[in-house]
Amino acid sequence: MAGDTIFGQMLRGEIPCDEVYSDERCLAFRDIHPQAPVHVLVIPRKPLESLRAADSADSDLLGHLLLVAARVAKQEGLDDFRTVINSGSQAGQTVFHLHVHVIGGRPLAWPPG
Ligand code: AMP
Repeated sequence: MAGDTIFGQMLRGEIPCDEVYSDERCLAFRDIHPQAPVHVLVIPRKPLESLRAADSADSDLLGHLLLVAARVAKQEGLDDFRTVINSGSQAGQTVFHLHVHVIGGRPLAWPPG
């Protein structure tokens, strides 16, 4: 269950995180293994295991996560940044609680691996 992931533990305050933003619907914190000078994760408080578990009832929440991602990027001083959502292990998902990566602060190549 998504609430039992390490991100669920952060949401419940059981383990610390390097928080950069928080509200009633989401939490944003610095990635422990940053892939760029700025690497923040935005996660919903609702325990969705991935984007593929979301449905139309989550439309507002998903929009909110993206707006928070942009807000965090601005807060971190980024004009240019990348948002990434990995869904499933073959796509690189390792923590099964939906999260939006916000990455920037250096030139970013495309396509990703
Ligand atoms: P993904 O591979 O898309 O599932 O992304 C999971 C991300 O969570 C990775 O970038 C990890 O570095 C990050 N991560 C794992 N554990 C922690 C933690 N305790 N604090 C912050 N970030 C973490």
